[in-house]
Amino acid sequence: MKHKSLLIIFISIFTFQLTAQKLQSPDEFLGYKLGSRFTRHHKVVDYFKYIAQNSGKVQFQKYGETNELRTLAVAFVSSASNIKNLETIRKQHLTNVGIENTAELKDKAIVWLSYNVHGNESSSTEASMLTLYKLVTENSNYLENTIVIMDPCINPDGRDRYVNWYNQVVAAPYNNNGDAREHREPWPGGRANHYLFDLNRDWAWATQVETRQRLKVYNKWLPHVHVDFHEQGINNPYYFAPAVEPYHEVITNWQRNFQTQIGKNHAKHFDKKGWYYFTKESFDLLYPSYGDTYPTYVGGIGMTYEQAGSGRAGLGIIKADGEVLSLWDRLIHHTTSGISTVEMASKNTAKINSEYKKYFNDNNFKYKSYVLKGNKSKTNKLIELLDRHEIKYGSVDGRKTVSGYNYDTKTKGSMKTSSSDLVISTDQPKGRLVKALFEPVAKLSDSITYDITAWSLPYAYGFKAIASEKLVPSKKREEKRVKFTESSGVYAYTFAWNHVSDAKLLADLLKVGFRVRFTRKDMTNSGKFLPKGSIIITRGDNKQFYNFDNLDQHIAVLARSHNKKVQTLSSGFSDKGPDMGSSAVREIKNQKIAVLSGKSTSSLSYGEIQYFFEQEINYPYTAINTDDFSPSSLDKYHTLVIPNGYYGGLFNKSKLDALKSWIRKGGKVIAIGGANSIFANKKGFGLKTKSSDDKKDKDEKDTPIVRYEDLERDRIKGSITGAIFKTTIDNSHPLGFGYGNSYFTLKQGAKSYKYLENGYNVVRLENNTAYSGFTGSKAVDNLTKSLIFGEENIGRGSVIYMVDNPLFRAFWDNGKLFFANALFYTNPSMKKL
Ligand SMILES: [Zn+2]
Repeated sequence: MKHKSLLIIFISIFTFQLTAQKLQSPDEFLGYKLGSRFTRHHKVVDYFKYIAQNSGKVQFQKYGETNELRTLAVAFVSSASNIKNLETIRKQHLTNVGIENTAELKDKAIVWLSYNVHGNESSSTEASMLTLYKLVTENSNYLENTIVIMDPCINPDGRDRYVNWYNQVVAAPYNNNGDAREHREPWPGGRANHYLFDLNRDWAWATQVETRQRLKVYNKWLPHVHVDFHEQGINNPYYFAPAVEPYHEVITNWQRNFQTQIGKNHAKHFDKKGWYYFTKESFDLLYPSYGDTYPTYVGGIGMTYEQAGSGRAGLGIIKADGEVLSLWDRLIHHTTSGISTVEMASKNTAKINSEYKKYFNDNNFKYKSYVLKGNKSKTNKLIELLDRHEIKYGSVDGRKTVSGYNYDTKTKGSMKTSSSDLVISTDQPKGRLVKALFEPVAKLSDSITYDITAWSLPYAYGFKAIASEKLVPSKKREEKRVKFTESSGVYAYTFAWNHVSDAKLLADLLKVGFRVRFTRKDMTNSGKFLPKGSIIITRGDNKQFYNFDNLDQHIAVLARSHNKKVQTLSSGFSDKGPDMGSSAVREIKNQKIAVLSGKSTSSLSYGEIQYFFEQEINYPYTAINTDDFSPSSLDKYHTLVIPNGYYGGLFNKSKLDALKSWIRKGGKVIAIGGANSIFANKKGFGLKTKSSDDKKDKDEKDTPIVRYEDLERDRIKGSITGAIFKTTIDNSHPLGFGYGNSYFTLKQGAKSYKYLENGYNVVRLENNTAYSGFTGSKAVDNLTKSLIFGEENIGRGSVIYMVDNPLFRAFWDNGKLFFANALFYTNPSMKKL
């Protein structure tokens, strides 16, 4: 008996040790076979944590949370001894960058794998679990000299939107017929994040919380290699590096070469299995805000891998060739390319490190410094962005004039400087990123690209700027926050109006119950100049809300919390321009705003609007689904915002008539992009499309013959994917308040409208020459003398046509004030609802 129980004890200890040593595979941990269902995000996080807790080779680090409070995390995967020395290795690695100053890293590679940035491209997060498991088990030899940083899901909100929906509608067993509802995602789909932003367009602009929190960790590591896992149409073979032209000029030969070497290694593994793949087509390296380009512009080999699949594919779908594409197929391909990437890094550590170091030592570009002049709010906003990228900047030191490329005239010129002007130079570790973000024109090695071709930040933020070929000396900036101590007995207070953050202050004033005015004409009062649009808060207006003493205290608190300069006015009598009692000093009330959302609207455009209200100005609005929309329900609102969209059938004649009668009674419509088509060329509206019919018909003989193989290249002659044009502003109209005489707009299409005959052409494009970016030779034909932003009065109300997008990806900062002007200053309704 004794023997027997000893044996039992021995056996149980033995099995316990075995299980303690043997890590659970994803299948064992999840309780189902990987690929047989979609895994919810929290279970993925649990698996990563489990491996970290049970293997010395993994360190789990939570780096943030999404808008919907899901965990954002990375796992550091390497040999146990490397994991113990992570901080030392990191510092050695950043010594090659020039940020740290210890021994140089020579024999270890840093690889970062980012999964599922597009939420419904969902196989990659499943693949991340298998990749992790294989790395710590059968492929752990690579970890001796390689640190793999895995982010299992960049976009958990989008992924769970897709996965939760799919798990609800999938048939049992799943239906591989593409007609089935499980293959038809409802609006807005799972691709984007909570604010419906495409996170693979946000790396450089960092407007979203996922990007902002990720960049903090990313900048600590600046990996040698970065992979962004994606999915594409269900019928495509797998795509991996090398990418297609155009490549941005800052990309080095080494970066070009090594992605080809990595691609060839993938090919070796894919060939063994007989899998199809393609390279050198479709995915270029230009726009700086992708998950391949951004890492490339900060030293890494940045690559996109694309598997067939996405929201259409579900657990399995029949492709055009009759074969079934299963989730398992998708995830095993991504697992294979991920591990092959680590293999290549591990086999080339010495070369990777020496070339990486070279990258940061060579920043010899034509323009050495960018000098930017703008108001304080703009400057602060840009500084926030520079800080997120850990780009160094300073104030102009000494000089009184800088000369170089003048952004405003696109010729050589000069600019008088002051100590508040910003200097950003390329002689720093992030020099290549500085060039990519600030240079006036990005060189295009090929014009076929699938995103905007111009984004230069001085234009996007509305700065006067000079690109200097000489290094402009700079000194550390001293940031002064507004220190306003309350006054007493003043007649009125005034705030400036020249940046979207002023609209946030206005929104705050309105929400807490201030009575607020704005001046519609320039005035000088108490020796202070108040340009059109200045916010005015008088004591007389506000005595019923805030007694005489409290008003001063409240204003001081607001000025400090918004970091805005407030000025005091001692009398209602103006030295110049209207007095305080003039009808030109208009009261503005809280506006009840409805925004169309759902089917037919562009989810990206709706998301930009939602983000504007919630994150930029923090002001309430009501989203109404197009399915529930009826003009008769608008009587509860002052304003209807219609996002960019595809409205074909939604506004039939009777709906449009009903909308018109609501406008006549004082309603205001703000139409963005494609929403202008609802009104264009319709009876009762003045908006008219410009078309080539306006010119005399071309003779048939003029039609050029295009070779079949040149068709794609010929088509782009008719396109503008995103180029910058200089427009003229009528800033005497409230839609133009807070602006100067010109505005640089980002044009994203050739569609254009004539100037309004009976309306205000507030922002107009007079000349069709682009300042930056690619424009097809045929596409610009109709742009001369076309409307950008305008207002047409109809009865007591009006329609504001915004042909270009003033809120693009939330990064075109200088457009946002137009949208605020449209909401609050242009024909503001005083209707009591
Ligand atoms: Zn994608």
